[in-house]
Amino acid sequence: MGHFKRIPIFAANWKMNKTAAETRDFFSVFLPAIDGILGREVVVAPPFTALAAASQMMRSGISVSLASQNMYFEREGAFTGEVSPVMLKEFGVRWVILGHSERRHIFGEDDRLIARKVRSALDAGLKPMLCIGEKLDEREAGLTFEVLDRQISSALAEIDQGMLGEIALAYEPVWAIGTGRAAALDQIQDVHSHIRSYLGQNFNSTIADGIRIMYGGSVNLKNVEGVVAMPDVDGVLVGGASLDPKKFADMVRCKIG
Ligand code: PGA
Repeated sequence: MGHFKRIPIFAANWKMNKTAAETRDFFSVFLPAIDGILGREVVVAPPFTALAAASQMMRSGISVSLASQNMYFEREGAFTGEVSPVMLKEFGVRWVILGHSERRHIFGEDDRLIARKVRSALDAGLKPMLCIGEKLDEREAGLTFEVLDRQISSALAEIDQGMLGEIALAYEPVWAIGTGRAAALDQIQDVHSHIRSYLGQNFNSTIADGIRIMYGGSVNLKNVEGVVAMPDVDGVLVGGASLDPKKFADMVRCKIG
């Protein structure tokens, strides 16, 4: 349903991996390997300390966007250890991953903080890649949809509807992240179609039909084609398997449809 209109996103979330030197090495292999690829959006999220090196590797005509893995919502001030949207924009960052489960569960970020970050990113002209996902006990208790609905509604509550087109959602079941145990294709499609209809009910059908909903959690070269073939999946957010430039390039080049 409208799948063809949504350009799929292939995003790499490096987490706390790669120095600046390793980042340059990655792009010197990765960029030639995806040369000429069309009809998909490629996004790489290095750690903050490697953003400068990554942006120096970009040349005109290269269709890779940079993302940061997090940010704080204030523009500047006494917030030791934090990084602001304007600082990120200086390096040509276009996307920011927000609400990743590691931020939520290791670093205690709650829905309210994530909502402020989403708003601040949009105000600064950054595109939020908003991660949502249930924990294993929540899935087993039959609470998956309830958890996702809450995460979505709180993150988007104060967003101007006209800005929702700037956002991508990433469904990342917590139990599938870094475990080598991706969700089954029917589980993925089931959740994505729920998310899309939830957006249709709470916003409108144009927004629901246009928004890109990515899947993340143990995506690799073997399962990526199946995942992106699901009608309501509009891309993937890849952790571990994105660290190798050849493997990630092969994933970006996978067959779609
Ligand atoms: P993974 O991580 O691909 O290593 O499971 C995905 C993510 O956390 O975005």
